[in-house]
Amino acid sequence: MIKDIQAKTLLARVKGPDDWFGLYYNFNLYRGCQHQCIYCDSRSECYQIENFNQDVLVKANAIELLRKELDGKRVTGTIGSGSMNDPYMPLEAEKQLTRRALETIAEFHFPVHIITKSDLVLRDVDLLERINQVYAAVTFTITTADDALARILEPGAPSPSRRLAAMRSLSEKGILTGVTLMPVLPFIEDNEENIIHILTLAHQNGSAYILPAFGMTLRDRQRAYYYAKLDKYFPGLHSRYEKSFGERYSARAQNHNRLEKVFAALCREFGIATKMPVFVPQKRGREPAGQPSLF
Ligand code: SF4
Repeated sequence: MIKDIQAKTLLARVKGPDDWFGLYYNFNLYRGCQHQCIYCDSRSECYQIENFNQDVLVKANAIELLRKELDGKRVTGTIGSGSMNDPYMPLEAEKQLTRRALETIAEFHFPVHIITKSDLVLRDVDLLERINQVYAAVTFTITTADDALARILEPGAPSPSRRLAAMRSLSEKGILTGVTLMPVLPFIEDNEENIIHILTLAHQNGSAYILPAFGMTLRDRQRAYYYAKLDKYFPGLHSRYEKSFGERYSARAQNHNRLEKVFAALCREFGIATKMPVFVPQKRGREPAGQPSLF
């Protein structure tokens, strides 16, 4: 079910320094996600998204809120989208909330960082180019380079091949692009071949940085859903997970030390950063310098 809701607020201040993406603010235009990745952590009870597997709630007043909230901000800092749902899920083609949010962000001269698994982001390249006068970055999540495997793991999302092609187009337009290589699913994706394949394709398609996490999280509803999908698509793996991880929240990749070494060596060889260049927050009232700095 797709349903409009009225949100009370939109922009959240990110607590503490964000070491991954340098985010200062965060927002979600939707609740729920049509990509329906079998490992998605947004199913966890703590996020209180009921019916995550069926419903998407649309924050119908989001743009109005964004405009009002940006107007009152004292600090120009990177606004992130894409942590709890994908801002370019199929519904966005019709609703255009992300597009309208980017228009507003461009108007207020704020920097932006988007995480997505969709090439629909290319629709908004004109706005990203405008925002890039301050700072714009787009990170594509790629957990496998195998399109057939991705159809099982990330059934509602465009294929990794399409994501990589989109990354290449954005990178050619001068937008900062990279890859989040996370999660790396134990016993499914945690092999050297997969890591090497992703890094090689990322390098060929304009990835300036790659941020990895060799493993996955597992908790309550997320774990139950994931294990049901393992039973369906990977018979025998469910019991292997239970034996290896029990009730633990963090499930590390097998041979993660070895994978980290392979990853680091290839990044060095390809000249890919393992931290992304981020925008340094500035007091509002003067023009942002537009100089991302790496820290
Ligand atoms: S794209 Fe992200 S938010 Fe959406 S289902 Fe997949 S992991 Fe969850």
